[in-house]
Amino acid sequence: MSGKEGGEDQRRPLTKLAQAGRRAEWTSMPGQPGSIVNPPVWRASTILYDDVAHLRQAARTSTHERLFYGRKGTPTAWSLADALTEMEPGAEGTMLFPSGVAAIACALMAVLKPGDQLLMVDSAYDPARNFCEQMLRPLGIDTVYYDPTLGSGIADLLTGATRAIFLESPGSLTFEVQDIPAITALAREKGIVTLADNTWATPIFFPALAHGVDISILACTKYIVGHSDVMMGSVTATPALFPAVQRSAYLFGQMTSPDDAWLASRGLRTLGVRLNQHQDSALTVAQWLSGQSGVARVLHPALPSCPGYDIWRRDFSGSSGLFSFVLDGGDEQARAALIDGLDHFGIGYSWGGFESLALPVDPARHRTATRWEAEGPAVRLNIGLEDPADLIADLEQGLARFRAARG
Ligand SMILES: *Cc1c(COP(=O)(O)O)cnc(C)c1O
Repeated sequence: MSGKEGGEDQRRPLTKLAQAGRRAEWTSMPGQPGSIVNPPVWRASTILYDDVAHLRQAARTSTHERLFYGRKGTPTAWSLADALTEMEPGAEGTMLFPSGVAAIACALMAVLKPGDQLLMVDSAYDPARNFCEQMLRPLGIDTVYYDPTLGSGIADLLTGATRAIFLESPGSLTFEVQDIPAITALAREKGIVTLADNTWATPIFFPALAHGVDISILACTKYIVGHSDVMMGSVTATPALFPAVQRSAYLFGQMTSPDDAWLASRGLRTLGVRLNQHQDSALTVAQWLSGQSGVARVLHPALPSCPGYDIWRRDFSGSSGLFSFVLDGGDEQARAALIDGLDHFGIGYSWGGFESLALPVDPARHRTATRWEAEGPAVRLNIGLEDPADLIADLEQGLARFRAARG
């Protein structure tokens, strides 16, 4: 099924989503005809060996994708990891983690050592910044934050100590699109590792490694799982960097439960159709919001009003369901009047599920290299799979409450 053997893989992403990770050895039994569609849930801690010689020999060879010890996984997790690798042309392998944050932390630890400097995008997911400040800094690893709209201008920030550049495009909360090809080209020239948090686009809308990124990180919790019921992260890397990522994951004892891996594999099969629907509905809502009284700006990479729109159009093949909008004036209480009365939007942090969410966001709190200046408070929306007409009607009433509270 893998289609990887025998040269260039010609399959398009939607075809890969349906086929990836379903190797015969994970879906059939030795000596028996037939196979099942989905690799089953293999639960294990102890792995039993045939004899002492077998045990010794197993310990001497690679434990990757081989039954060795429960922590190294079973075919359930290998199948998901393999599928994620297949979705990223240019990737050597994928390691799975119990959350997106664990994936970010382990990827950074795989490439940085004391004395190194990390360049971190100023619009990064806030817990990624916390890891840099509260874990890396005490270890003697310095983090310098940079403006997300810097492309090759990032060259001015490089020093002899710069070892890695962390990207997240579009940025969390504010959705600036980064010039990833310009930055990765420069980094390759200088021997600097690039890591990208690709949670928003997934490899379906932005194959990160094909754009020069060395290490692509996903909070699978969001779109891969897609149903708001599993926490998981992944790190997919090039042949040059996968061994370091794998080593780091093993040293930290990172793994995912087979049940969670199975649910994530299930989510992955429908990622393409879900993303297409999230894209259509979110664009419909974002375009409607753009013209409304009380809305100052809509921060959606596929709208020309978003910083980096031209880059998005050049590099991405689609847009997903998460974006923000800035209110025209008003305060915390006026924003709460909008959000609290919504019937079809939950209030919550995690996103990427089938249900819509509205969240008050305050980007200024999470910035140091750039200033966030806005006409009023901001709201982030996760547009789920409901009918967008219902969502728009709900938001219309919300904006009326906002305008009344704002005065
Ligand atoms: C949610 C999120 C993460 C972290 O994922 P968890 O599974 O919640 O730890 C990382 N990056 C981005 C962009 C996210 O939105």
